[in-house]
Amino acid sequence: VQHKIYTPEHHSFPHDLVDSDALFVMETLREAGFTAYLVGGGVRDLLLGVQPKDFDISTSAKPEEVKKLFRNSLLIGRRFRLAHIRFGKKILEVSTFRSGDPESDSLIVRDNVWGSPEEDAMRRDFTINGLFYDPSTRSIIDYVGGFPDAQKKYLRTIGQPYLRFKQDPVRMIRLLKFQARFGFEVDPETRMALLEARSEILKSSATRILEELLRMLESGHAVSFFKKMTDEGLLQLLMPELAGFLETDDGDEIYSFLKEADNVTRDPSQAPLDRSTLLACFVFPLLQRRIDSHYEDRGHHPHIGDIQSETHHLLDDAFLPFFHIPRRLRGMISSILSAQYRITPLEKKAGRKIRIPNDPDFHHALRFFELRCALEPGLQSTLNEWRAVFQPSDIPQEDAPRKRRRRRRR
Ligand code: ATP
Ligand code: MG
Repeated sequence: VQHKIYTPEHHSFPHDLVDSDALFVMETLREAGFTAYLVGGGVRDLLLGVQPKDFDISTSAKPEEVKKLFRNSLLIGRRFRLAHIRFGKKILEVSTFRSGDPESDSLIVRDNVWGSPEEDAMRRDFTINGLFYDPSTRSIIDYVGGFPDAQKKYLRTIGQPYLRFKQDPVRMIRLLKFQARFGFEVDPETRMALLEARSEILKSSATRILEELLRMLESGHAVSFFKKMTDEGLLQLLMPELAGFLETDDGDEIYSFLKEADNVTRDPSQAPLDRSTLLACFVFPLLQRRIDSHYEDRGHHPHIGDIQSETHHLLDDAFLPFFHIPRRLRGMISSILSAQYRITPLEKKAGRKIRIPNDPDFHHALRFFELRCALEPGLQSTLNEWRAVFQPSDIPQEDAPRKRRRRRRR
């Protein structure tokens, strides 16, 4: 492939915004005689003027060679071996150039075949994700046509879209993720391939897909992402029950919650919402509906225990059979939702005293209640009363620093 090199006069890539530890790592590798580039999402985001979540590096050095150069490094992954280099709380991923099977039409099996920079670019998913940045010359190296595509705001797969989606169906979800995040136009051939390869999604790993869905919930673009997932028929395959609900009035309510969660996420002055709180947005409107019908059927309100078991049923209906929500997360969602009925009890009694439940997840429940307040301003005075009693010291310490959530494909 004829590759293009964009020197500093031809691009406006903000070198100064590259993480200084990442620059140090690449410089060290280079001095040791290896090639090292910034790759993937970090290059893409800086080129688009977005703050990258992480700075990944690709190099000609083998994982063991990387390990020798950096005392603060650790080799991880069995099939996808790479080095993690730690700087305080931050971890930089350094992977060795590897080749894919661009022509194979089946699910990828091999993954640790070292390759050239060119092969490494070609195995990546979309052209905008296949760019390299060489900090030593401050130039962008483009084997895949990603540079003009980034400028045109255009999304297309590297190579034949139908094959690339069949090889790894998670790429279809990634396509919608970048579309929702950046609002880019999608190449018609890529879009057609998505429709044709759609049902392949059920062949890929539920854990990886769930991770992408959760990341999208955390991205501040959840509404447009889940709308696209339903428009393209992917959510119907993965979560038929939920996809069905989203088309009803309950669905509109779910979208209102997600929209509010997106607002919070995009507001830099607010702490990010926990995954449990975000997932609660899908279940709360449905839970309210069930609780109403419980009252209609039996003439009395359900107890907290009933509410908890309803929550579990609803979670199962929404996520099974494909996804499995980890136990801890499930427990948290259920506790957030049932706490809503402590904050606003179904049976109103005058003069009820506020008592903060002895529940380590209660601060998540209050944050969920804030979302409810934004949608229903009448709840604001209740929120103020609870906030007045709730002490920030009630937030468990382990939750305080946000855990780094990283996922590697395979
Ligand atoms: P995000 O901003 O959500 O992290 P990202 O593009 O950086 O998006 P990562 O999962 O961090 O996504 O992956 C880093 C890079 O690895 C991508 O930019 C892409 O080049 C490559 N990559 C990730 N997933 C795939 C995949 N399924 N197929 C091919 N290449 C992939
Ligand atoms: Mg990334």
